[in-house]
Amino acid sequence: MAFTRATGKHRAPSRLSRKSAHVAGVAALATTGVIGTLASPALAAAPDAAPGSLEDTGLNQAVITDTLAEQLDAQAEAQELEAQEAAAKAAAQAKAEAEAKRKAEARVKAAREAKERADREAERQRLNAFQLPIAGTYVSTGYQTGGAMWSSGSHTGIDFHAASGSTVVSVGAGTVVEAGWGGAYGNNVVIRMNDGTYTQYGHLSSVSVSAGQTVMPGQQIGLSGSTGNSSGPHLHFEARTGADYGSDIDPIAYLRSHGVNV
Ligand SMILES: [Zn+2]
Repeated sequence: MAFTRATGKHRAPSRLSRKSAHVAGVAALATTGVIGTLASPALAAAPDAAPGSLEDTGLNQAVITDTLAEQLDAQAEAQELEAQEAAAKAAAQAKAEAEAKRKAEARVKAAREAKERADREAERQRLNAFQLPIAGTYVSTGYQTGGAMWSSGSHTGIDFHAASGSTVVSVGAGTVVEAGWGGAYGNNVVIRMNDGTYTQYGHLSSVSVSAGQTVMPGQQIGLSGSTGNSSGPHLHFEARTGADYGSDIDPIAYLRSHGVNV
């Protein structure tokens, strides 16, 4: 029957087709005059509507209501989409911020590690640096110079020209193994260098370190003098492979091999 189609509620057919059905229904009513068979409460609720009129009928209201519902559905859907997009955007932003923070922290960490490496390298170079045992002077007597002066028959070190009281320093980093009277060497200091070699400083007027003490390159260990078997103030300097007398090596070659310009 044509009426049942006209009273359909949700997912209504187009406004035009519903109006056409209404016209058909009204036409059917006019011919039969049987209003009691009308199935549509909406149509029944509009008794003032003139037969055949397309205005102000319940059907129109139903169509408007459906359209509104669809609009609301669409709006809700759009709002949900918007919310999802906003959430996705916020998540992406949070991720980007976290990534930026992680990168910034990584940069700070890398910079700190680079500085620590540089500091360690500088410290290593400082500790490995060698220098002259006495500044601003020259070698007055060379290594292995012969003469009655030395018990071995030849000079076991080199002599630096120096007035009494000149500052004498350790040529490198090491540990003092002897500090005090050394017989023919007078007041002397023997240092075991960090590379395992030994250096000795003789005829000192005073000693300012003690055995067991670690020394840095250039650290003062005493003052030059003329104690022991000495003909006059100077610094006697020896380089050795061992702690004891007789293990001496060429001090000039030794200093040069450690980068000292002598
Ligand atoms: Zn000497």
